[in-house]
Amino acid sequence: MGTVNSHAAKPLAAAAIAQLESDGVATLIGTVVNPAGLIHAKTVPLRRMGIFADPGLGASPVFHAFTIDQTGIVFSDAISVVGDQRIRIDLGALHILGDGLAWAPGGFFGQDGTPDPYCGRGVLQRVQDRLATAEITALVGHEMEFFLVGPDGSRLPSLLWSQYGLAGLLEFEEFVRGVTNAATASGVAIEQFHPEYGANQFEVSLSPQPPVTAADQLVLMRIIVARVARQFGMRASLSPLPFAGSVGSGAHQHFSLSKGELSLFSGGAGARGMTPEGESAIAGLLAGLPAAQGILCGSVLSGLRIQPGHWSGAHNCWGTENREAAVRFLIGGPSNPHGANVEVKVIDPSANVYLATATILGLAHHGIERELELPPETTVDPATLSDAQRDANNITLLPSRQSEALAALDDSALLRGVLGDEPVAAVLAVRRYEQENYGGLPPEELTEKFRMAWSV
Ligand code: GLU
Ligand code: MG
Repeated sequence: MGTVNSHAAKPLAAAAIAQLESDGVATLIGTVVNPAGLIHAKTVPLRRMGIFADPGLGASPVFHAFTIDQTGIVFSDAISVVGDQRIRIDLGALHILGDGLAWAPGGFFGQDGTPDPYCGRGVLQRVQDRLATAEITALVGHEMEFFLVGPDGSRLPSLLWSQYGLAGLLEFEEFVRGVTNAATASGVAIEQFHPEYGANQFEVSLSPQPPVTAADQLVLMRIIVARVARQFGMRASLSPLPFAGSVGSGAHQHFSLSKGELSLFSGGAGARGMTPEGESAIAGLLAGLPAAQGILCGSVLSGLRIQPGHWSGAHNCWGTENREAAVRFLIGGPSNPHGANVEVKVIDPSANVYLATATILGLAHHGIERELELPPETTVDPATLSDAQRDANNITLLPSRQSEALAALDDSALLRGVLGDEPVAAVLAVRRYEQENYGGLPPEELTEKFRMAWSV
């Protein structure tokens, strides 16, 4: 998001306010996502919408250092009680929620209107702009997995449930209908919505959109799911692993890259019809994934999910339609109307979605720039290979220890280059806090304690 031009913004806001008023909107919610993956919010009465867009509402820099335990703040030289920033909402991305509410995504800016280097949305915008300069267009499609739970995070009965089963759909029919209707009314395009593997676990997949828009709409979808769940006395857990010993929830991201009309992932002479640039994009992603884990799935719970056999992509390799590969390739053609694309499975809902997309697209872009060579495809479940076979194909198991993932991020000049030092430092700070304070808890306690940490 560029800085909003104040001269243009005011008449625009006046016209938009009049329109929203006639749509019944009285209250506007603006959100930002912090390095720990927490969604923060402020509201204004509708008449203050223009102010929320420019100059924005005040917020302490410690927003970048709030931790997942409801109380913690990781102060540093750069982030302290002194100073103030502005959260500016993007009026171009406003959606109506219903019941008198509208929502718009926000970003952080300095008081002089300059983009704040810690702002995840700003980071993603810059990655999107860099791709545009290279004449590459990216589209991103998000998957949102979540568990329905009681208001206190307790497990709900699942007497009628089978994996991906109709039973769960009918058990929660009103909820499913409510979410679908609310998403349609708010203008969020759902691709599909279905019961997942775990009991009371669902998935909503969203249509591909430009990167910043796609991330915004995932935040919006979380709000929609949370509001509808509440109507039925439930909540949605967005923990990477809500219940110890069971499957986790991913926040997989699909992306496609194209130049003009030409996809980088189909119509080429390379592996599975990729172009040389498409191959290099995936190579860049694979090369960077071990260091990127701290951004993509770096919470104290995330390692419990990244396990072979959980479809979470624990092995760092790529494969066509391979659900055990960290990077799953989906070929284009009649059965994939959006065309060939790449799914990054390791991402989980604890990640800041803007930083996560910035990371994967930044790594793909780096791979293209460096013309990196694509490793061979993994065509079987990597867990069925022998150690020697995995070694020969350079297939590694991603570390499940948080400390290891964070050390790799800390050491990565590449990711610091892609994202900037500030967001990397902020992610490391909040995640190390988790490690130091809660890393020793057994899985049962850890999952229980943070089951609702990312819920809204
Ligand atoms: N729930 C799995 C995960 O943690 C993903 C299941 C699927 O492939 O949809 O990533
Ligand atoms: Mg799924």
